[in-house]
Amino acid sequence: MVSLVTTTPVRWGRLKLLLPLQRALLRPIVTALAYAEMSLAPRSTVLGFSVFCTDVGMNCGDLMTKTREALDLICRFDPRRFNRMTRDVRGIAVTTRGASFYDTSLRLIYLDRAVIGEKPDYIASTIVHEAVHARLYRSGVRSYVRIPHRHEEVCTAEEIEFAGKLPQSEALVEELKRALASRWRGCAAMGRSPAPPRP
Ligand SMILES: [Zn+2]
Repeated sequence: MVSLVTTTPVRWGRLKLLLPLQRALLRPIVTALAYAEMSLAPRSTVLGFSVFCTDVGMNCGDLMTKTREALDLICRFDPRRFNRMTRDVRGIAVTTRGASFYDTSLRLIYLDRAVIGEKPDYIASTIVHEAVHARLYRSGVRSYVRIPHRHEEVCTAEEIEFAGKLPQSEALVEELKRALASRWRGCAAMGRSPAPPRP
């Protein structure tokens, strides 16, 4: 998922015209608050990435260890992708918003706190997913708001390709394939907004 300032959905067509203005006005405030949160959070550099312990309820040492294990998997089994990530992504933080996402202003991947409790391969594939959002955005593909399901399909497909390179990853690959088949394509076919990426 890509975060471009989340706003409450508006049902009335006329008010929808105000949403771009609303986003433009809110964006600097949201970014300033995120910067403040980052500056106050414990941080560490892990394999070249700044990792911010932005969840006060989290064991920061555990976060750094898990992040290192996940980044190490990407570095060892997909070094080209890892090198791209170092250019596209500034760092990693934690969110309690219920889904992982990439922040385009801060160039940060926010991992949902539930993801940190998963195994390293799952954390790594989630980082890969969000890093693809980063790659798309920084390549000038900024149509997420208009066609989110297409972006999610691309990112999940890249996750599958990455997961396939990991040893003993059959279960993870199958889980991702099911997500790709049932979630994004299903949502697109029904013309509904996709659910947030998996926590
Ligand atoms: Zn996504």
